[in-house]
Amino acid sequence: MKILLIFAMEEEAKKTVEHFGFEQENLSTPLPYSLFKKNILGNIVYLSSLGIDPRFKVNSVGTVPAALTTYDLLDKKNFDLVINPGTAGGFQRRGGEIGDIYLPTKVLFHHREIPMGPYEPYGLGTYTPYDLSLLRGKLKFKEGVFSTSDSLTCRDHEIDFFNINSVVVKEMEAAAISYVCEQFNKPYLGVKSITDIVDGGRVTAEEFMENLDTASKNLQEFLEKLLNHFLGQES
Ligand code: SAH
Repeated sequence: MKILLIFAMEEEAKKTVEHFGFEQENLSTPLPYSLFKKNILGNIVYLSSLGIDPRFKVNSVGTVPAALTTYDLLDKKNFDLVINPGTAGGFQRRGGEIGDIYLPTKVLFHHREIPMGPYEPYGLGTYTPYDLSLLRGKLKFKEGVFSTSDSLTCRDHEIDFFNINSVVVKEMEAAAISYVCEQFNKPYLGVKSITDIVDGGRVTAEEFMENLDTASKNLQEFLEKLLNHFLGQES
């Protein structure tokens, strides 16, 4: 089995890179993403993070780098499964707490509003992820609707969107990666650890930075169990 783990931020990926002893691989590309590889029981696992933007010197978060990186890697190497671990905003009114691990039942875009007949559902995306019935009972996780936009902040009317669509995870890459996976006919599995509560009254950026370390640790622990499940190791 050939798996790609695609993270947005170096900080989110670091614990997983160290834990499994991934080794850096060089690949010719104009994109800033980083790439690591590890052989686990005859299976090949690649790990990528979107990389540091050469001009702004920050992680290349958001939909454009996420889609381009996923495209480049799926085009160059033929993966069986794309796992997208990361951090996200959760919702206390739907039971979300800091450090929770969520997997998607469907994946939406919440900033692509095109009220023009069939363009409206196109904007929303509604991508179908990896079938969670294959993981329920084997691993412990919460589940529900993921929604993506290019903003960390949340506008008032977006709260209505999140309530109407029962969104449990708000982040910035899932739908973009899902779109590329759909074009390649490859399964997408998001794994998001909650760093901040969207409807909790705190300033998101502050709460995010405070909880990034805990959320990344929970992510690494869950990923270990998930990879053991897919690659047939004892956990
Ligand atoms: N403030 C951070 C930047 C984080 S960008 C810093 O200074 O380093 C946010 C990243 O975390 C994105 O990759 C996104 O997918 C995820 N994320 C976490 N919480 C989020 C939220 N509430 N809304 C949108 N994205 C969120």
